[in-house]
Amino acid sequence: IATKLPKVGTTIFSVMSQLALEHKAVNLGQGFPDFEPPQGLRDALGRAMNEGRNQYAPMHGIAALREQIVLKTEKLYGRRLNVDTDITLTSGATEAIFAAIAATVRAGEEVIVFDPAYDCYEPAIELQGARAVHIPLTVPAFAIDWQRVRDAVTSKTRMIMINSPHNPSGAVLSAADLDELAAIVRETEIVVLSDEVYEHIVYDGAHESVLRHPELAGRSIVVSSFGKTYHCTGWKVGYAVAPAALSAEFRKVHQYLTFCTFHPAQAAFAEFMASDPQHYLELPAFYQAKRDRFRALLAPSRFKLLDVPGGYFQLVDYSAIRDEDDLAFSRWLVEHGGVAAIPLTPFYERAPGTRLLRLCFAKSDATMEAAAERLCRL
Ligand code: PMP
Ligand code: GLN
Repeated sequence: IATKLPKVGTTIFSVMSQLALEHKAVNLGQGFPDFEPPQGLRDALGRAMNEGRNQYAPMHGIAALREQIVLKTEKLYGRRLNVDTDITLTSGATEAIFAAIAATVRAGEEVIVFDPAYDCYEPAIELQGARAVHIPLTVPAFAIDWQRVRDAVTSKTRMIMINSPHNPSGAVLSAADLDELAAIVRETEIVVLSDEVYEHIVYDGAHESVLRHPELAGRSIVVSSFGKTYHCTGWKVGYAVAPAALSAEFRKVHQYLTFCTFHPAQAAFAEFMASDPQHYLELPAFYQAKRDRFRALLAPSRFKLLDVPGGYFQLVDYSAIRDEDDLAFSRWLVEHGGVAAIPLTPFYERAPGTRLLRLCFAKSDATMEAAAERLCRL
């Protein structure tokens, strides 16, 4: 049949996880913790399922959880959201991103994305009959060249997507970056879609959320994911925050995409966030210890480690080990080195030929040690 998505195959995350299984490799590829969510959260999920939270949740999410998001957003970003109009719970950030694009971008319009870009962005844009305009981030800082953005904006630009902390590089946007963005979208109809799923995993200083920037917050859809924050990527619960008029459009799509999100998990997050408001405040220290441990383990290897300002991925330069592109090297590594990693090429329109791989350090000490032992042999 005539495909609507000719460029799309199986995602590199599934491909590498499958190869990791086949070759009994340590899986540092697909980004997910290999440790469990907090016990209190799991207990709360069990209670929710045993105490009658098993039917449809309200379309935009249960009030108790939206209230927790209001509290968090005010505490961290100084912004008071309207609990009824501004927040919609979704089935992971993935659903929120798709709904945000489908709700705002029309056929023939353009969406600016920065490469390397998380892989669910472009297919969602193409399914609207719109076009992704790719701007490469600088290497090795993975920063935005704002002049290139100014040059790329046309009368067709409907959306600019940003992602901070960035997957795969961990780069974070500064307050000055957000000011640059605000100046570009001012007096246009451009909507900003800000993917902030790693908002609580920032190592030096605070996360610069779009929600802290009053001008941008007034025209943005900000997406987050409980999967990253509470070590439960398999529960697939996320949310979108947007001003009332934009939320209303977003909800028109969400209503018919999924209608509502897994009810027991919403009840569990609401209960756990109320009982342990420290969890996300402790996350930077928790992951910084893992980052520092992983970097120390890899120090004797021939991999060159790039800086990691945020997120739970370490980029490594493998050029001292083999001279081949990242697709070939990641395949060689899983087959002969016993470690699965993620190449960056699939996240580019035009791959720049860097010799970089992404390794996930959201892992137990034992997993990191097993991987490092193999990586240090190369
Ligand atoms: N955006 C980015 C940058 C991500 O890394 C991920 C998950 N790895 C998502 C969105 C999707 O999040 P979720 O699993 O909640 O759908
Ligand atoms: N977001 C995860 C990553 O970057 C993968 C999620 C998925 O497999 N779709 O590794």
